[in-house]
Amino acid sequence: MCGIVASVSTRNIVPILVQGLQRLEYRGYDSCGVAVYADGLKRARSTSRVAELQEQVSSEKLEGGTGIAHTRWATHGAPAVHNAHPHFSHGPGDAAQKPGKVALVHNGIIENHEELRAALQAKGYVFDSQTDTEVIVHLVDSLYDGDLFEALKAAVAQLHGAYAIAAFCKDEPHRVVGARPVPH
Ligand code: GLU
Repeated sequence: MCGIVASVSTRNIVPILVQGLQRLEYRGYDSCGVAVYADGLKRARSTSRVAELQEQVSSEKLEGGTGIAHTRWATHGAPAVHNAHPHFSHGPGDAAQKPGKVALVHNGIIENHEELRAALQAKGYVFDSQTDTEVIVHLVDSLYDGDLFEALKAAVAQLHGAYAIAAFCKDEPHRVVGARPVPH
């Protein structure tokens, strides 16, 4: 089992997010990452230990008050930096490496990721990873109309599988939203 940490604050939250990941290390992971809002979406990701991520965020001076962090246990796509979370959405027509609107982390498996990927690609979404997770971030982006919580609710209604999700959006920078299935 991997882990998710998320927070919104008036101060720099990166040290707290990284400390949270350190506390989750005992669960095991193959890669890790952190994203914050800092005049747009910024992130650092590593296939090494959380200690290495810590060095990266310090040397790159990654700072922000709104952020999400993740330790990954790969199920879809190799344990590589481009598959590590957080994932960013790209609006249709955006260059593949240009960060978009939504940053998202996910634990679990999306069983219908292939159908969703095909539908999003048909709308012009560009995929950077082989993960099932990346379909969620583009789906949320495609459903976004000014309210991230509503977009995530509409997105999870289309997901089959297991998920815990945290996300933020550069258009609502003081908000983090989360989702998990409600037991029937
Ligand atoms: N299925 C996702 C992936 O392979 C999430 C795995 C996890 O729970 O860490 O990236």
